Amino acid sequence: MAVTISAACISCGTCVDTCPVSALYLGPDKCEVDAAKCEECQECIPVCPTEAITLPNPTKKKIEPKEEPAPTAAAAAPAPAEEKKEPVAQTAAAIPEKETKKEQRTDRFADHEGVWVFIDQTDGKIAGVSLELLGAGRRLADKLNTQLSGFMLGHNIDSLTDTCFAYGADAVYMIDDPVLKQYRSETYMKGVVDICNKYKPEIILYGATTNGKDLASAVATDLATGLTADTTMLDVDPEKRLLEASRPAFGGNIMATILCKNHRPQMATVRSKVMKALEPQPGRTGKVIHEPLGIHEKDLQTRVLEIVRDTTQRMKLDEAHIIVAGGKGLGDEKGFRICYELAEVLGASVGATRDAVEAGWIDHHYQVGQTGITVTPKIYFAIGISGAVQHIVGMQNSEFIIAINKDPEAPIHNVATYSIVGDAFEIVPHMIEAFQKAVNGGEIAYV
Ligand SMILES: Cc1cc2nc3c(=O)[nH]c(=O)nc-3n(C[C@H](O)[C@H](O)[C@H](O)COP(=O)(O)OP(=O)(O)OC[C@H]3O[C@@H](n4cnc5c(N)ncnc54)[C@H](O)[C@@H]3O)c2cc1C
Repeated sequence: MAVTISAACISCGTCVDTCPVSALYLGPDKCEVDAAKCEECQECIPVCPTEAITLPNPTKKKIEPKEEPAPTAAAAAPAPAEEKKEPVAQTAAAIPEKETKKEQRTDRFADHEGVWVFIDQTDGKIAGVSLELLGAGRRLADKLNTQLSGFMLGHNIDSLTDTCFAYGADAVYMIDDPVLKQYRSETYMKGVVDICNKYKPEIILYGATTNGKDLASAVATDLATGLTADTTMLDVDPEKRLLEASRPAFGGNIMATILCKNHRPQMATVRSKVMKALEPQPGRTGKVIHEPLGIHEKDLQTRVLEIVRDTTQRMKLDEAHIIVAGGKGLGDEKGFRICYELAEVLGASVGATRDAVEAGWIDHHYQVGQTGITVTPKIYFAIGISGAVQHIVGMQNSEFIIAINKDPEAPIHNVATYSIVGDAFEIVPHMIEAFQKAVNGGEIAYV
């Protein structure tokens, strides 16, 4: 026997996604069942929104996920290092286990537990986005009543664990090995895949940095799981334990929320500056779980011969304290140059709207907005920028916004801290002159 699907089916495909043995498929009029494959597990029945699925005469016992051994709350709960009796290095005082009583999980992914965040470090400096993700991960972990862990690879990185705890992590999984001194896809992927297979996290978040994106895609491929790239919003459905990763799609015209229903871990890369880091709590502690890497330099295909740092401005735009951004109102490439002149005096970075980029006045790496970079500088100059919503979403969290626009009705004035209504070519040269004098006279210093 197999489940039957009535004419009430609306072909939504939810059952198809849910079936663990791929027995269901979308037919021409409604969902169909391949009776030879159906194992009568009945997982499709409660998910059908129109109650079109029934199992008239069950011939098999209902499959209960993972009965042997029965997952206790403690087994499903984080603290895997203790259960598995792996070497555990504790910091000063391990944080107490969550006091909230956990319900025993019976879903088919009950062996996957915990929210993990990739702590992306280079030369012992943690990328800001990793700390932001600890804040986002904390929120997800609390909703799922589970533990938040950072995982970190590198060499001589012990001192970074305190920062992870201060920003919200309950535990840190660490692989410290000379081979990991510099990022390489090969070594990092092996390390991460090994600890994922051993500890089975439910959700993993990576910053959409160069390393984070490279690592996440390699790990997703190896673990045969899904990955949502460049996420800008994160939430979780605590009932279904599904990560809801949203990102702009179709050129930014819609926001798509992407789910990974049939594979674990659920993974996403997240853009920098779109999540907020928690206020750090110095002195907060947690568990450190050390794991070995198990590869030697001589066995590797790649060698790092030299590191050449890209010091171009685009690398710094999302970290800049001051940004001078120009828009189509500057007329042409020559007019756009006043942004560089003002930026030069202030030690600022230059940004742009999409229209300025499309006009060819500046490279697309400098585009601020929905389909560009999200920035949160202390001061954002918006010069000849109308303030389209797609631009605003990328800069509205700047501390001070100074808008210069000759149209008093331009929407940019609605988000500006200070609005200057007038011609940029008259105003900006005065500003450059005034700032130059102030800098020379020591009245202002670069931030
Ligand atoms: C799917 C999608 C995604 C998008 N993503 C982005 C994005 O990531 N980033 C982005 O920026 N845009 C994005 N856009 C484009 C966005 O909708 C706007 O078209 C764009 O931001 C407008 O750029 P602008 O302000 O430079 O030009 P305009 O809208 O043409 O505004 C020029 C402004 O300059 C003023 N002005 C003119 N002359 C002067 C002067 N001499 N002095 C002072 N002010 C002057 C005018 O009053 C006007 O307000 C996207 C659009 C879509 C549909």
